[in-house]
Amino acid sequence: MDISNIKGIGKQRAAALQNIGIFTVDNMINAFPKYYNDRSKISTLDKLEIGTIQTIKATITEPAKNSTVAGGKVLTKLLVTQNQKKLEIVWFGRSYLQWIFKIGSTHYFTGRIIAKFGTLQMESPEYEEEDAQSLSVGRIVPVYNTPKKISQKMYRKWVKSALDNATLHDKLPKILYEKFNLAALKTAIENIHFPQNEQQLQTARQRLVFEELFFMQLALQNLRGDTAEGVKITDVETLPILQKLPFTITKAQQTVLDDIIHDLQSGFAMNRLIQGDVGSGKTIVAVIAAYLVAKSGYQVAIMAPTEVLAQQHFSYFSQYLSQFSPLLLIGSVKDKKTVYKKIAENATQIIIGTHAIIQKYVSFAKLALVITDEQHRFGVMQRTDLIKKAENPHKMIMTATPIPRTLGLILYGDMNISIINQLPPGRQTIITNCVNSSYRQRLTAFVEKQAQQGQQIYIICPTIEESELELQSVLEYTANLQRQLPNIAVACLHGKMKNSVKEEIMQAFKQNKFSVLVATTVIEVGVDVPNATLIIIENAERFGLAQLHQLRGRVGRGTQQSHCVLVTDNKSETTTQRMKAMKTTTDGFKLSELDLQLRGHGDFFGTQQHGLPKLNIANFYKDIEILKEAQKAASTISQTQLTPQEQSTIQQETSKILQNILTM
Ligand code: ADP
Ligand code: MG
Repeated sequence: MDISNIKGIGKQRAAALQNIGIFTVDNMINAFPKYYNDRSKISTLDKLEIGTIQTIKATITEPAKNSTVAGGKVLTKLLVTQNQKKLEIVWFGRSYLQWIFKIGSTHYFTGRIIAKFGTLQMESPEYEEEDAQSLSVGRIVPVYNTPKKISQKMYRKWVKSALDNATLHDKLPKILYEKFNLAALKTAIENIHFPQNEQQLQTARQRLVFEELFFMQLALQNLRGDTAEGVKITDVETLPILQKLPFTITKAQQTVLDDIIHDLQSGFAMNRLIQGDVGSGKTIVAVIAAYLVAKSGYQVAIMAPTEVLAQQHFSYFSQYLSQFSPLLLIGSVKDKKTVYKKIAENATQIIIGTHAIIQKYVSFAKLALVITDEQHRFGVMQRTDLIKKAENPHKMIMTATPIPRTLGLILYGDMNISIINQLPPGRQTIITNCVNSSYRQRLTAFVEKQAQQGQQIYIICPTIEESELELQSVLEYTANLQRQLPNIAVACLHGKMKNSVKEEIMQAFKQNKFSVLVATTVIEVGVDVPNATLIIIENAERFGLAQLHQLRGRVGRGTQQSHCVLVTDNKSETTTQRMKAMKTTTDGFKLSELDLQLRGHGDFFGTQQHGLPKLNIANFYKDIEILKEAQKAASTISQTQLTPQEQSTIQQETSKILQNILTM
């Protein structure tokens, strides 16, 4: 049913709702509240706490009065009394309120309590007349994403009437209800919007989260192949390559390497996720694995998320594996035909590029290992495409996302996980400081000093060009710095540049052709410049902990003491805590936990981070127990008797999610 069928929703409002993705009644009832305010506790006037949001219930004894205050705004004042205690309720710019509150009627009011000239005031509260169907006060109140100009109060009424008008289609097979003790769909949907108490809310949530995760698990199952045979690598002698390295690999790297060697020898296709914090040295592990496979005459494909990174991997791999004629395959490479020919004829065993290498014209002669460097993303997508390029290549994914092991095991149940849980020795801890913009001059002096000592500096700005938001921009910052430090070479890098230009700049920075690189977060992923020892992150409040951690990982990659300076003028609680977290810990796993504590669910687990479909209600971290149940349900459903109707619903839902994953 179209949303405009609901009373009070005309053309304009329907259009506003469509803008946030709500076209139908069904859409509306499936747009669950963002959060809830508990307004079920009613305060009395003698117990009002200043500075907090409180709900009171009052009977109107005198009319509300309008007056005009400085600036021409209308102030509406309503005086309520309880046991001789008085409270002034005030609103600005809403003169019609004068007519709303009839003498003798009883209303709820929820708003912030302040003290003004010795009198207690409640500021711009939400209000609602007492009746059996109170939706906005005197209860647990849902808060929604609403279009601009649509009040929560009005929206709640629409939701209520949407609930009354909706026809629900239950997607879960009947049998699961009993088995997993789930609430009925109708009850769940009603209570997720308007729960009478916490218990109802939790039961409703449980049911809805289960459904979402159940179908996601089914979709993921679909992506998983059976354990397949894979090329068996018999010669696993690593000494020749280890001897070429300028360092000794760490124990953690060796352990992970042992896992990989075990897989390569097994005769089954490897399917392994290599987790390791930024700078833990994942790449060299990939180099060694590639060496073993190439030495046996097979081909290895290495995929990076960006061209800059592909380029970097290309030079890194070429350093150690030149005997296998490494090839770079990215957009800017000329004479692709020759490249394709070499790949098809096995004239090269190491092929490095972006995800583009698995597309279209590329046909491999003897592909046996695919390495994906996702850096901080936790990808699903890449697990599918490449399989088509070879019978069953060994697969290895590298990620710096510190996703908890239990969660990884569930989401990636088909993959084995190895963790590099140690940084190479000799790394100095990066000193992290947080300052406000009044330090900028001193910072510039610091930049100058570091540059004069031959070290390199990153400066990260949130935007490219000057904007109204008063954020630091790359172009402005660069110009200022060039003016202030005429003797220091400063360049900039941002996402609007052509790839080939970005490439050149990054390459020049790596070769120390200039000292300071002012950039947006395009440099975030995995760029390795060991000579860079200072990173300044402007408007640090704009970045999540995960991103700050990734950015900081750009320095501290050599043996010199490195610094990270976070610049922010933002004094909000979240920012303060985040900055503190950055200062006190350099461990990605710990930071991810802190992030979770700070925000309930951290941005480490935001959908974008791990490349999973957007979740409507479930939360991978919070709902791990339900996730386990859903996984159990998904893995046994194929052995269950279902009605044809149920079967086709399952198929439809699963393919919807798959579509979603595959087009991400
Ligand atoms: P990441 O895991 O973030 O991808 P990299 O593979 O880029 O990290 O490694 C970071 C740097 O550390 C590289 O310069 C790499 O050569 C170096 N490195 C890797 N392993 C070791 C080691 N065992 N000892 C010293 N340096 C190492
Ligand atoms: Mg890396």
